[in-house]
Amino acid sequence: MRVLVTGGAGFIGSHLCEALLAAGHKVFVLDDLSTGRFENIEHLPDVTCIIDSTLSQDIVRDLVRDVDVVYHLAATVGVQLVVNHPIRTIVNNIQGTETVLQETCRYRRRLLITSTSEVYGKGAREVFHENDDRVIGATHLHRWCYAASKAIDEFLALAYWREKRHPVVIARLFNTVGPRQTGRYGMVIPTFARQALLNEPLTVYGDGKQSRCFAYVGDVVPALMTLMERTDIRGEAFNIGNNEPVTMEDLARRVIERSGSTSDIRYIPYDQAYGPGYEDMRHREPSLDKIREAIGYVPKTSLDEILDVVIADTRKRLQHDV
Ligand code: UDP
Repeated sequence: MRVLVTGGAGFIGSHLCEALLAAGHKVFVLDDLSTGRFENIEHLPDVTCIIDSTLSQDIVRDLVRDVDVVYHLAATVGVQLVVNHPIRTIVNNIQGTETVLQETCRYRRRLLITSTSEVYGKGAREVFHENDDRVIGATHLHRWCYAASKAIDEFLALAYWREKRHPVVIARLFNTVGPRQTGRYGMVIPTFARQALLNEPLTVYGDGKQSRCFAYVGDVVPALMTLMERTDIRGEAFNIGNNEPVTMEDLARRVIERSGSTSDIRYIPYDQAYGPGYEDMRHREPSLDKIREAIGYVPKTSLDEILDVVIADTRKRLQHDV
C-alpha cells in the first residue's frame, strides 16, 4: 500500500516508517521539522519526505489523494513545549487534525489519529478506561491546552465517523519511549538518561512520588499497524501503553544504577521546572482490556529493557555529539 505518515520525522513516526517499509509499503512523510528531525529518517532512503505542515491544506490534499491510508501523528507535543508555546499547540493540533480529517474524508482514505493519555487529565483513578470521565484543569493553566486540543481532535474524528461514516480510529498513547526520543521538550526518560551519562544531577520534579507507565515504541508501533489493518474497527478510541507503574524517584534511581552513573538526584519544585501554577497527574496507568480484546495487544518490553535500550542510544548520541 501507499501510506502517508504525518509527523513521520518525529520519534514515534520514524519508528512507524521503518516498520511500514519493512512490511513492504511505499511510505510518504509530511513533517514540518518543528520537533521532528530529518536525522530520524535519513537512514530510510525509500521514504519520500515532504517538508511542510498539516496546516497547508493543498499539500495535505495532494498527498492524501495519492495514498491508500493515512497515519496522523503530526502534533505539538511535550509538556515543556506546550507550556512555552500554547498558541502553536492549540492551532497546530486542532487545525492540523481538522485538515487531515477533511481531506481523508474527501477521498475516503482510512485514517488513524494518535491521541494521548493527557485527555484523561488529572482524574484520580487506578487505571483509565477509554470511556472514563475526563478531569481537566482551568484555562489559565497552559498545560491543559494540550489535553483540550487533543480531546477536540477526538471529538472531531468521532463526529466525522458518526456523521459521514469516515473510517477513522483513535490510538491514545500513554508515555511512549524508546531510541531517538529527545528530552528537549520535557520527556523524562531521555532527560534522565542524558543527565546520568553526563554524571549530572537527575532532576526529579515535585516530590518524585508521581508515577507513570512507560511503553516501548517497538510494542506500540505494531499495535498502530494492526489497528489500521483491521478495517472492521472504526469510530473508536483505544488506549495503548504498558502496565508497569514507576515513580519518578524510583525511575531516577534505576537510570543511575543501569547506566553506572555517579549522579545524584535533585528535587526541583514544579514552579521552577514549568513556571507558576503547574499541575501534574499523580498516577497514570492505562486499562488495556479494550485493545487486548480487539487486537490481542500485550506489551512485551519491561521497563528495565527499555531503560537499557534508551541509555545505549543516548550514549551513542552523546559520543556522536563529541
Ligand atoms: N519529570 C521529572 N523530571 C524531568 C522531566 C519530567 O521528574 O526532568 C516528571 C514530570 O513532572 C512528570 C513525569 O516526569 O511527572 C513524566 O513527564 P513527561 O514529560 O515525560 O510526560 P507526561 O506524563 O508529563 O506527559
